[in-house]
Amino acid sequence: MNFLEERILKDGIVKEGNVLKVDSFLNHQMDIALFDKMGKEFKSRFDGKPINKILTIEASGIGIAAVTAQHFGVPVVFAKKAKSINLEGEMYVAEVESFTHRTKNQVIVAKKFLNQDDHVLIIDDFLANGCALQGLIQIVQSAGAAVEGIGIAIEKGFQPGGQIIRNLGFHLESLAIVDQMDEATGAITFREK
Ligand code: 5GP
Repeated sequence: MNFLEERILKDGIVKEGNVLKVDSFLNHQMDIALFDKMGKEFKSRFDGKPINKILTIEASGIGIAAVTAQHFGVPVVFAKKAKSINLEGEMYVAEVESFTHRTKNQVIVAKKFLNQDDHVLIIDDFLANGCALQGLIQIVQSAGAAVEGIGIAIEKGFQPGGQIIRNLGFHLESLAIVDQMDEATGAITFREK
């Protein structure tokens, strides 16, 4: 079991509706020493790739992306959630359905921060159905940039996102893959590597 899996077992809480609550170390209060280990791990898993930019989505991806960026020595761009767009000419736009809030948002990135010369590592906290990632991938592709890899802290392996993204041929690395979780007992089972 790796450091993140150990922390999830210690402090993660299984909620109804297939939601794993990790707000004591990742989604609300943030354990920066843990993020630093995650950043180091992403650096080793994507070693040798010509990554010059990290892309994430607000809000909870930003902390992990920022600490990870220290290990790569590159800037972070975060896609912003926007209710209405009136700057379309200057923005890349994608539609994203939120798993936790069940709402649809447009997410935007200013064109000046992403272009065809960029080699992007996408980072996010959770992968569930894959909507957030597909929106980010769409934005990178609209810019003519390359997706060099995707780094996720916690993948919920019993939801379809991971399979969809891997089937599309992307290099996806999840630090912890939860294969089962039981709301009644609180038990969490990880995928064996
Ligand atoms: P997806 O688009 O893959 O369905 O969901 C990804 C987004 O939903 C993540 O960025 C994360 O913010 C949120 N999310 C999905 N599942 C969970 C969960 O079990 N716990 C928490 N805390 N967030 C989740």
